[in-house]
Amino acid sequence: MGEELERLGAEVTLLERGHLRAELPGRRPPLLLSGHVDTVWPEGTLAEMPFRVEGGTAFGPGAYDMKAGLVVMVEGIRRAGDDRRALRVFLTADEEKGSPTGRPLLEQAAEGVAAAFVVEPPSPRGNLKTARKGLGRFTLRITGRAAHAGTNRAAGVSAVEELAHQTLALEALTDERTGTAVNVGVVSGGTAENVVAAEAEARIDVRVATKADRERVERALTELRPVNPEAELELGGGWTRPPLERSEGAAKLFARAREYGRELGLDLEEGASGGGSDGNLIGALGVPVLDGLGAQGAGAHSPDEHVELGSIPLRAELLARLLQDPGLS
Ligand SMILES: [Zn+2]
Repeated sequence: MGEELERLGAEVTLLERGHLRAELPGRRPPLLLSGHVDTVWPEGTLAEMPFRVEGGTAFGPGAYDMKAGLVVMVEGIRRAGDDRRALRVFLTADEEKGSPTGRPLLEQAAEGVAAAFVVEPPSPRGNLKTARKGLGRFTLRITGRAAHAGTNRAAGVSAVEELAHQTLALEALTDERTGTAVNVGVVSGGTAENVVAAEAEARIDVRVATKADRERVERALTELRPVNPEAELELGGGWTRPPLERSEGAAKLFARAREYGRELGLDLEEGASGGGSDGNLIGALGVPVLDGLGAQGAGAHSPDEHVELGSIPLRAELLARLLQDPGLS
């Protein structure tokens, strides 16, 4: 990516841990182009899931999320030529892990930009995204007391029984109406059938649409109390991404994109995503974010991951027009 961007006249800096930042001169203030170079697939996946093209479709690990998006980015910059805004490119190398090391560098890159475009995949129907849910990953550790299940049961405190109560309480925080989702995805505990379990643990995924919901869920999590007063609860983990709430600035960006899309024969709609991206981190700084500008396809994070090759030049042209837009804030 560094070489591709240099070929387009960018001044490229490779940062620690594989993150990349690049600057291209143009009308100021600059626009931020955001993407990531990692995938969810472990190294070696290509051996079982090789890159292949069938007809107009390309398959392979990360093809859709977001190798094709990076192609859209490079091609969009190339098509925009020199008559465009100054650009700052930031590519994260650990986005799929929640950008733990990329985040501070991305936040620096977002300083002073007028708006940000993220080349994550669009929705399955090809729509762009102006809102994304915030994400948290928590663990609930439960400590009870071990005892013989047959001869001394009353002396024990079952962490597994407590885990069952807590699992139901956690799932009950889900609220379809506001889009809050609390999922106890992994549970473990106990050592043997005939032992009252001394330890148990739940791993929890939380999604929220607004900051207010985030506070509500956080309060509920910290206020969890054991049903069996002799059991102990310990909450770990935390929020990995703030919610990206639809802003007026983002709505304006979308309106421009919709207009350019029409010129290209695309009927783009505005959507929200239940998943997070680096767009959440940028939006939290007050920068207007338009996300989902990558290529069309489907099957992100699944063995069927694929991208429609025909969408790449079209989406690159859409991005190029946005980069040239003199009307953006
Ligand atoms: Zn992605």
